[in-house]
Amino acid sequence: MQALILFGPPGSGKGTQAARLVERYGWAHLATGDMFREALSRNDPVAVEAQDLMKAGRLVPDELVGRMVRAKLQQLKNEGRWDGIIFDGYPRNVAQVGHLDAILTECGIALAGVVALEVEDELLVKRLAGRCSCPTCGKTYNIHFDPPRTAGRCDTDGSTLVCRLDDNEQTIRERLRVYREQTRPVIEVYRGRGQLAVVPGSDGPQPVFERLTAIVDPWTGRHDR
Ligand SMILES: [Zn+2]
Repeated sequence: MQALILFGPPGSGKGTQAARLVERYGWAHLATGDMFREALSRNDPVAVEAQDLMKAGRLVPDELVGRMVRAKLQQLKNEGRWDGIIFDGYPRNVAQVGHLDAILTECGIALAGVVALEVEDELLVKRLAGRCSCPTCGKTYNIHFDPPRTAGRCDTDGSTLVCRLDDNEQTIRERLRVYREQTRPVIEVYRGRGQLAVVPGSDGPQPVFERLTAIVDPWTGRHDR
């Protein structure tokens, strides 16, 4: 069992790349947000405890997040999905790095490496602020990079596009600032251990994916490119 940790700011295309890596290597994908929602849906006691804390306006202790990660790994093991795993959104702080170290050792999982997608803030702001979608068919647009043929209308069915109101520039810059502030120390830990690869992520999904697999293939022992 091998593990890969993937970092990337909002708008970096991390989700897309994670999905493509999962497809390429047949690995499991552990995104903490999804893991939490899934655990809640089956009334997992640890997830319910975490939700109660959040409802009370308190932070979920790192130890509790670690318990959810452990439970998820146990589930994957039981299902025989034990080739590899991509951690996405975890660890989120330096304390969680320590928890993950312990979990990996306990479960006999080797950390293959850590990848950080790097995209400059100006581009992220444009990507995030320009997001619109069609309420009828679900097609997504970006007013800067992938605009509809007629402004504000879906190409397919002419519906009025919906643009996320919370994605205004100031909100986005704050999200990016928080991301960098929280993630930098975590990334620095892995850099210090010589386990970090930084991948430029400003161009399209395909060149980014090629860059990623050029790094990750050798980690996984795959050389069939
Ligand atoms: Zn449409």
